[in-house]
Amino acid sequence: MTQSPEQELEPWRKREREREKDMERQIAEQGYITPPSFLEMVKSFKTTALKFINQGAPIVEPAVYTDRLGECNTCEFLRRKNMRCGACGCLLEAKAQMKTAYCPKGKWENGMAPGRDDEK
Ligand code: SF4
Repeated sequence: MTQSPEQELEPWRKREREREKDMERQIAEQGYITPPSFLEMVKSFKTTALKFINQGAPIVEPAVYTDRLGECNTCEFLRRKNMRCGACGCLLEAKAQMKTAYCPKGKWENGMAPGRDDEK
């Protein structure tokens, strides 16, 4: 049986919720966040990239791209050295171009990913 796109995303959402709880615990205990592992980053980016490709690879307008990276540049989760998001692990200069991508903290113009509005 084929799963709907929403069903396919549910395991990723569950992992994201668990990761967010872990990040909050890390901040409380050590005062900083350990970035996602390379494997976690690849999994997260793979999900984002598959969704992007499945929807015809839509790209945002240049102004939206600039605004998104502007948000990232002032964000506490930014790993500036390699322009990675410390929350999802994605490479931001690629992810911010994808119309189908969302900031895991809802800081971009499109808010939270569908189904995650209640967690903002
Ligand atoms: S994607 Fe969102 S959480 Fe990640 S660095 Fe950018 S603004 Fe911050």
